[in-house]
Amino acid sequence: MLHPKIADIAATRHILKTFNLRASKRLGQNFLIDSSVVQRIVDAAEISAGDEVLEIGPGIGTLTQGLLEAGANVTAVELDKKLPAVLEKTLEGYENFKLIQGDILKVDVEKIMPPNFKVVANLPYYITTQILLTLLEKKLPVTKIVTMVQKEVAERMTAAPNSKIFGAMSVAVQFRADVQIAFEVPPSAFLPRPEVTSAVVVCNVRESPFKVASEDFFIKVVRAAFGQRRKTLVNSLVGAGFNREKILAALEIANIPPNFRAENLSVAEFANLANSLQK
Ligand code: SAM
Repeated sequence: MLHPKIADIAATRHILKTFNLRASKRLGQNFLIDSSVVQRIVDAAEISAGDEVLEIGPGIGTLTQGLLEAGANVTAVELDKKLPAVLEKTLEGYENFKLIQGDILKVDVEKIMPPNFKVVANLPYYITTQILLTLLEKKLPVTKIVTMVQKEVAERMTAAPNSKIFGAMSVAVQFRADVQIAFEVPPSAFLPRPEVTSAVVVCNVRESPFKVASEDFFIKVVRAAFGQRRKTLVNSLVGAGFNREKILAALEIANIPPNFRAENLSVAEFANLANSLQK
């Protein structure tokens, strides 16, 4: 069966009109209309035939089609109740596609995906961070997450210590994955056009993550440290209820100067600090 490309402005307009649909702002619907962007996402995800892929928010099937053409087995989770009928038509004839209608934050991903799967998505921007952190924190057997996000979010995800945008989210993501920006995408690649520039981020999930005694405690320390980022680490942690003497002792054990601010610490140093503080 020959499939016309969905990643095209005329095709997308035609599909929306045929099904009497309007892109929903509330659901973060900005459909890709540039086939070269779809191909670059598929390439960044290093898709080969037989790969198991979880796609979040397939929309009208634009990126899904690129993944299916590359030979992936795609399981997609889409919240919009109007879209299953559309996808049935736009992806008609592709056998390796499964759709689950529901909220990705409520679906039990482990139940629907086999081990060693990849996540590929053009994420709805209103819940990007929540989706990414949930996927990473659940310790799913996922190897790679390739997602379109707002450029500003991509920069925070990949920020290095000692920069103004290095924050709790950077540490939480980098704790679990090696993260890189693959490429930027202009608003003109979408219908409707978003107000911001986007970027595709590749997260290679770490096989051996940083060692911490308790992840909950680690995250608590990271959040507390960045809670008041202008203050020194010691004062931020005291402000969050930690004991000053204990903090100073923990910093010494972890070999961290007491005048450091949260943004000066690497992920490994945060892990050491949390471990020393917990002792
Ligand atoms: N993948 C399509 C593309 O690239 O053209 C659509 C991407 S659009 C930016 C985001 C998609 O996520 C929409 O189809 C939207 O309905 C869906 N979505 C929004 N919130 C969701 C959620 N909580 N769970 C699953 N899908 C969601």
